[in-house]
Amino acid sequence: MEITLLGTGSPIPDPNRAGAATLVRSGDTLLLVDAGRGVIQRLVAAGVFPGMLGAVLITHLHSDHITDLNDVITTRWIMSPQPNPLTIYGPVGMAKVVDGIMMMLGSDINYRLDHHGDLNEGPAVVVVEVSPSDVFTVGEVSVRVGATDHRPCGPTVGFRIEGADATVVMGGDGIPCDTLDELCAGADGYVQTVLRDDLVKLIPMPRLQDILDYHSTVEQAAQTAARAGVGTLVLTHYVPGIGPGQEDDWRALAAAHFSGEIILGDDLTSVNITNS
Ligand SMILES: [Zn+2]
Ligand SMILES: [Zn+2]
Repeated sequence: MEITLLGTGSPIPDPNRAGAATLVRSGDTLLLVDAGRGVIQRLVAAGVFPGMLGAVLITHLHSDHITDLNDVITTRWIMSPQPNPLTIYGPVGMAKVVDGIMMMLGSDINYRLDHHGDLNEGPAVVVVEVSPSDVFTVGEVSVRVGATDHRPCGPTVGFRIEGADATVVMGGDGIPCDTLDELCAGADGYVQTVLRDDLVKLIPMPRLQDILDYHSTVEQAAQTAARAGVGTLVLTHYVPGIGPGQEDDWRALAAAHFSGEIILGDDLTSVNITNS
């Protein structure tokens, strides 16, 4: 199973890091997990057009994880020669968000339907709202849903993706919790969004200090990985962004708590994870 960090950035604008999005490739099945800022450009850089996606999985409805979902919907629609329904799995509230996106796109959809004689219908989108312990199948992978703790944002979910050669958990945003531990237990890989509390604490802005409450630190992600016995820890969504030459510092903070493989880096960093 190949994991590609499409966007390693956070809500803080960064010229080199796109927003939260990760590509999961298992055999012929392609999943997009979250759809933050710049997702289409990074997806294409990874060799994938939106029409090729088996499904989109959304961990939660914070804007930095869904802001370019509209672009995924539109680009898949206008680039597919035949109707190509897109299934979006997300927590309760997902349908309302997608309804809003479709309303926002209403004028554009009408322009294109009027203009292109071969387009007979607007974007086909199927929304499946999921809850903890739900299981669903996309292509050749099975996905189990688990609760995460990103309060006061909620409900939020993580996904345990089981393919032929590996099982990988997408933890999304949030702090350590029992249900995340359970979701991660024995997985080959675990992808977690993280922040550096030691650096964030240096920035005297109340709004930035608030985020310390509901994001895993690098150390906490490593501790979750260790408790769950996962093989590879993949860190993303860096707050603040990792500066030049700082990757080793981040890796060392995780390595103090977790002895497995640790992956982090720039957008399009990719790792192949197999049964360990
Ligand atoms: Zn969030
Ligand atoms: Zn986020």
